[in-house]
Formats: sequence, C-alpha cells, structure tokens
Amino acid sequence: MKCWVCEEPAQAICKFCGRALCKDHVSKMPYIAAVYVGNNRTPKLVVIADTIWCGICKPQAEPIEMPEIY
Ligand SMILES: [Zn+2]
Ligand SMILES: [Zn+2]
Repeated sequence: MKCWVCEEPAQAICKFCGRALCKDHVSKMPYIAAVYVGNNRTPKLVVIADTIWCGICKPQAEPIEMPEIY
C-alpha cells in the first residue's frame, strides 16, 4: 500500500477514513472511542489520544443526523 499523498510505502492507516500514509504525512488526533454515562449521570468520553489521522478527512466529534437518507 502506498501513501495517499506522496506514494511512498505507507506505514499507517488513518483511523477515520482508511487512507494509507507514510511517516512524513501521518497526523495525530484524539479519537473518541466510546461515550457512556458515569456516576451522577455525567456523560463521559473514552478518548484515545494520538490516533493515526491522515490530516485530510474531517472526523466529526458527534454523530451527524442524516434524515434525508430515510
Ligand atoms: Zn507520504
Ligand atoms: Zn482520514
């Protein structure tokens, strides 16, 4: 697999969109792995820091409503 940007051999895959990336073009972003309600009914996020990210796609922090699909 080759880097999406420069076509060098890829060493990582974007967590969000699946693009392949070389070391020079990889970016990092916190990834929200899960949301749950903890004690006192406080919503909590399980966040994985430094997730591989391509720097191209635009992950959304919240699920997006898409009523037009239906
Ligand atoms: Zn590259
Ligand atoms: Zn991506």
